[in-house]
Amino acid sequence: MNKHDSSIITQILHDCGFEQTSDFRHAHIFIVNTCSVRKHAEQRALSYIAGLRRWRNTQGKIVAVVGCMAERLGDDIATRLPFVDLILGPDSYRQIGDFLNQVYQRDTKIIETSLGGETYCGIYPKRKGISDFVTIMRGCNNFCSYCVVPYVRGRVRSRPPDDIIQEIEVLVRGGVKDIILLGQNVNEYTYNSITFADLLKMVAEVPNVFRVRFLTSHPKDLNDATIEIVKNHRNICEWFHLPLQSGCSRILTLMNRHYTKEMYLDMIDKIKTAIPEATITTDVIVGFPTETEEEFAETLTVMEEVRFDDAYMYRYSPRPGTAAYEMNSLSEDIIKRRLRTLIDFQNKIIIDKTKEMIGKQFEVLFEAEAKSGATRGKTRGNKDVIVEQTIAPGEVRDVIMREVRGRTPIGEIV
Ligand code: SAM
Ligand code: SF4
Repeated sequence: MNKHDSSIITQILHDCGFEQTSDFRHAHIFIVNTCSVRKHAEQRALSYIAGLRRWRNTQGKIVAVVGCMAERLGDDIATRLPFVDLILGPDSYRQIGDFLNQVYQRDTKIIETSLGGETYCGIYPKRKGISDFVTIMRGCNNFCSYCVVPYVRGRVRSRPPDDIIQEIEVLVRGGVKDIILLGQNVNEYTYNSITFADLLKMVAEVPNVFRVRFLTSHPKDLNDATIEIVKNHRNICEWFHLPLQSGCSRILTLMNRHYTKEMYLDMIDKIKTAIPEATITTDVIVGFPTETEEEFAETLTVMEEVRFDDAYMYRYSPRPGTAAYEMNSLSEDIIKRRLRTLIDFQNKIIIDKTKEMIGKQFEVLFEAEAKSGATRGKTRGNKDVIVEQTIAPGEVRDVIMREVRGRTPIGEIV
């Protein structure tokens, strides 16, 4: 989401006459887009910004901090890092050009963190890649008890479908072949009477859209209609990112996730019954307050049962202002040990599943050079694949997997 927001900011600034440079020495303005989901992300951003002080204090330079951490810690950043000129929350990017001009001309500081239901309608960032994101909704109403997103990104709102389709048409004309629809919980998309399943179908029917994917699906809301649309459209990839968070129903209740372990497993069953070749990836948090060893072991059992194709695994990070912040955290040692155990456990599953790809054929969309003479591409199931041949980005080939290096399958063009 932040990556895509950075492209929105770049486009808005481009339209105001600013130019992007990849060379730090030529820049006059440095914009840091920040995340607040975990404490670690904030700490890294804060120390990165602190490192810009000397650069900023050269004649005429400006530092701007934007995104969720700017929203959450606006005044704090202004106090702790007083050289920062501009602090903007995620709903204030439309005016970023004006703000920068004001900062420049009046030598003033600006903090703007109001949340106003922005969807950035009508802004279509230019892209260079083969695969790109399209935000279909912003914000979140779910208030999972550990999560800061609803506080820093505001209530959920959906973007008008015609605006989404128009952006996709622009992307396709520019050579993008793989469209990833983005939202905190895409299943909650609704605009007038158009549901997510309706939107997905509309997107799949845009001429020349080669692949469509979407994330994130919330297990409480993914429905039969969506699974059917995925099943019935060849250009919608059969990949579901379905965060589990915990394999223990008691912890899921404390997390305010509105599903149990059994409901989650039923959903996996439903997907696999409808689309046996579907790949499923997930997010897991370990060490949520009060999680016992037995409850952690339940998460491992679910991981073993589902055999996820990939997983983002996190240690619980207490976020001020959330409901879980009021609960006593487990010790650092316990959380660290559980995370290590989970990562080792899941990595084995990923390596085994990757080995199962050997000898099988996959449709691969090539994206970029991996190293000299080798090219990286993606299967329909979102698995990175390497072939030791030069293939132009955007080409699609059938590839037979021959071996696995680390976690990456190495294939050969059929
Ligand atoms: N909206 C998506 C969903 O509900 O699955 C995920 C959005 S969140 C920005 C991405 C992931 O970060 C979550 O799925 C969760 O696993 C993780 N996460 C969120 N808050 C966290 C916290 N306080 N500590 C650790 N991980 C967290
Ligand atoms: Fe956070 Fe839950 Fe919303 Fe995802 S659904 S963004 S985890 S509150």
